[in-house]
Amino acid sequence: QAKTDGVGLWREFDATMQARQALLFEREQDLRNALGKKQFTLAYQPILDTGTRQSVGCEALLRWTHPTHGSVPPSEFVGLMEKLGLIVPIGRWVLETACLEAVHWPADTHVAVNLSPIQMNDEGLVDEVKAILIRSGLPAHRLTLEVTETSLLEDNPIVRNTMDALRAIGIRFSLDDFGTGHSGLGYLRRFPFDGIKIDKLFIQDMVEQPDAAAIVNALLAVSAELNLDVVAEGVETEAQYEALRQRHCQYVQGHYFAKPLADTEARRFILTHRTAP
Ligand code: C2E
Ligand code: MG
Ligand code: MG
Ligand code: MG
Repeated sequence: QAKTDGVGLWREFDATMQARQALLFEREQDLRNALGKKQFTLAYQPILDTGTRQSVGCEALLRWTHPTHGSVPPSEFVGLMEKLGLIVPIGRWVLETACLEAVHWPADTHVAVNLSPIQMNDEGLVDEVKAILIRSGLPAHRLTLEVTETSLLEDNPIVRNTMDALRAIGIRFSLDDFGTGHSGLGYLRRFPFDGIKIDKLFIQDMVEQPDAAAIVNALLAVSAELNLDVVAEGVETEAQYEALRQRHCQYVQGHYFAKPLADTEARRFILTHRTAP
């Protein structure tokens, strides 16, 4: 072939698009079947008290083991689950699995579960969560729901009613990835949060970059004023931990302490990292 003319280029582009479409379609089909084929698991990442370094609970993180592609990160499939309408049934599975696991942990620990904006806008969520708590036997106060600012964007009354109904039975709400979205501070006034999680972007830069440290300081000050619990996520180094400890950030989570762990390992971690009652 001498030179790629316009038509040739288009054909090439078209073929690439078709291949891409085929791949996406395959992934969609795989995702639709993944729950039935038991390809999902939960990993549990410990959350520790900064002062004592004892574990106070874990965050449940969804894992998909694809039969040929291996472990697929949530960043590659959570959005697709939302698009395909799979987030509600899979989210229900996540909640139930996390509660059934956490019921075996010490009574003073909690499990945090991530909820998609679509779940927050689902009117069936309240009854579903109540039913799961009854089936699992987990007391409501041991469940924290993590939502991101995007769940709240529309200022939908359903979200507000859902939060009120679940908080009334003792469930706690945490605003995830705090500081990354739009006008986060406003949400703290409009929605009844119990805590925030400072996004790892700020934590990872706070030791070297004064602007990141300034933002962490401000978030800690606001949280103290508003009586909110604070978890710093993505703590990877001793220096970051030390900086957070000095600033009296109450809770920490990150690879420096523990990576997301399989259920039995998580249970062992909790048992070996807690103050004797
Ligand atoms: P997230 O809720 O902010 O979860 C924290 C993410 O940071 C997790 O990524 C965790 O593995 C990672 N991480 C923890 N410690 C460190 C660290 O020290 N350094 C670094 N670089 N990363 C750390 P993961 O598991 O890949 O999850 C990504 C996101 O996917 C989560 O962010 C959450 O938004 C979403 N996700 C995970 N599981 C679920 C789920 O069951 N339902 C929904 N709706 N979303 C989920
Ligand atoms: Mg989270
Ligand atoms: Mg987060
Ligand atoms: Mg995140």
